Amino acid sequence: MDKKLHIVGGGLAGSEAAWQAANMGVEVVLHEMRPEVETFAHQTGSFGEMVCSNSFRSDDHEQNAVGLLHWEMRAANGLIMQMAAKHRLPAGGALAVDRDPFAESVTQALLDHPNISVEYGEVTELPTEGHWIIATGPLTSAKLGAAIQAETGAERLAFFDAIAPIVYAESINMDVAWMQSRYDKGETEEEQKAYLNCPMTKDQYDAFIAALMAAEKTEFHDGETATYFDGCLPIEVMAERGHDTLRFGPMKPVGLTNPHDPENKPYAVVQLRRDNALGTLFNIVGFQTKMKYGAQTEVFKMIPALEDASFARLGGIHRNTFLNSPTLLDDQMRLKSRLGTGASIRFAGQVTGVEGYVESAAMGLLAGRLAAAEILGQDLETAPQDSAMGALIHHITGGAEAKTFQPMNVNFGLFRPVEGLKGGRRGRKDRYKAYTDRAKQVFQEWLDTQATQEN
Ligand SMILES: Cc1cc2nc3c(=O)[nH]c(=O)nc-3n(C[C@H](O)[C@H](O)[C@H](O)COP(=O)(O)OP(=O)(O)OC[C@H]3O[C@@H](n4cnc5c(N)ncnc54)[C@H](O)[C@@H]3O)c2cc1C
Repeated sequence: MDKKLHIVGGGLAGSEAAWQAANMGVEVVLHEMRPEVETFAHQTGSFGEMVCSNSFRSDDHEQNAVGLLHWEMRAANGLIMQMAAKHRLPAGGALAVDRDPFAESVTQALLDHPNISVEYGEVTELPTEGHWIIATGPLTSAKLGAAIQAETGAERLAFFDAIAPIVYAESINMDVAWMQSRYDKGETEEEQKAYLNCPMTKDQYDAFIAALMAAEKTEFHDGETATYFDGCLPIEVMAERGHDTLRFGPMKPVGLTNPHDPENKPYAVVQLRRDNALGTLFNIVGFQTKMKYGAQTEVFKMIPALEDASFARLGGIHRNTFLNSPTLLDDQMRLKSRLGTGASIRFAGQVTGVEGYVESAAMGLLAGRLAAAEILGQDLETAPQDSAMGALIHHITGGAEAKTFQPMNVNFGLFRPVEGLKGGRRGRKDRYKAYTDRAKQVFQEWLDTQATQEN
């Protein structure tokens, strides 16, 4: 197979992937359709353009999972973090940058690299030969999207996300909630208790609907307009259709008995479902929404048992092209259907079902290293599960529920527990420190094995 690595998409992921692979000595061809073919969100022809906010979020690598990802990317000589440091703006604990000079510096660094060449133009087909990374992002062009769908099946490539909020299990009040599947359905006890139920009285339901209707909502960006599928209507749109619509939809109270108060039938029930194999995260079933983030936390904390909820991520609906990675990719980020053929195709960035600039760049970093190692005949395992990068890759290629898979940002709910530490809110600071200490150690060890291989 040709020893060149072709990378499609010069966004946050593709730029980082190119940098990493080129630094390992591999010849890289970076394909980018802009400025020839535009997207509705990008404004320039630069690589690494940030399409909306200018922030890489928290830079706290001891208490925050995104900050930890920054740390790991810096340790791995990441281009995005280097250029972010160069163009950093004051933003408290966040890593914000001057976006245009930032993207120009990313572009220049790639153009100057002796192992990187650039080909402008849209890639419209999935390749049949050679080593490739597809990092075309949430706004993958329509033609390439159609080609990917032809390979994966229509139901495994989504063009919109419909994200229901995700809550940390430890922050749910189990004195109010209980575990039960509707009508106790399922063969095993685990299945019969697959859902976590939060009961509402009529007054609580009425107040919840009123708050939902009054809450501020976000608008779609120009060019992003969605026709909602009936299966994933935002809850506020359902509530607008009738006061009781939600009670006959995701909040229906039937087939459930509250063990804390068996005599009283709840008027409505909000259900949550496990979101990861570790059981540390639960999503609120059917609660995709366009409410603004601040409004979401206020409205969702009105749900009994969620008064003190901590959210690993809030809900949303966006134009977003992403794969059902748990079924389609292996932990080396390769398309399983092409294993053993003439083409080794990896995916990286937001199209793999991670969410956010930092997560996308991190997945680019990993894909770049894995692809380069493959070309160089080196045996490189994917990032260790206890690192932030590893927690993400293990989630999207294994830990996440494939049936309900929606994009995920990095958060401590994806991390395996550290034994012997206190749960709950009080132990949080120590726990996060333990996660980040452990992550740094295993990530550094992973990097060190590569340094040894390079020597
Ligand atoms: C409107 C909008 C707002 C967002 N706001 C934020 C935010 O504020 N904060 C945040 O963290 N994340 C935000 N995101 C998510 C953000 O897009 C991603 O986090 C990040 O840009 C993804 O990086 P990526 O490299 O995967 O994709 P991108 O950065 O989008 O890069 C993909 C690249 O592939 C190119 N491309 C696409 N198709 C082809 C093709 N067929 N051939 C050749 N090139 C192609 C594109 O031109 C683009 O340069 C937003 C997304 C959208 C759509």
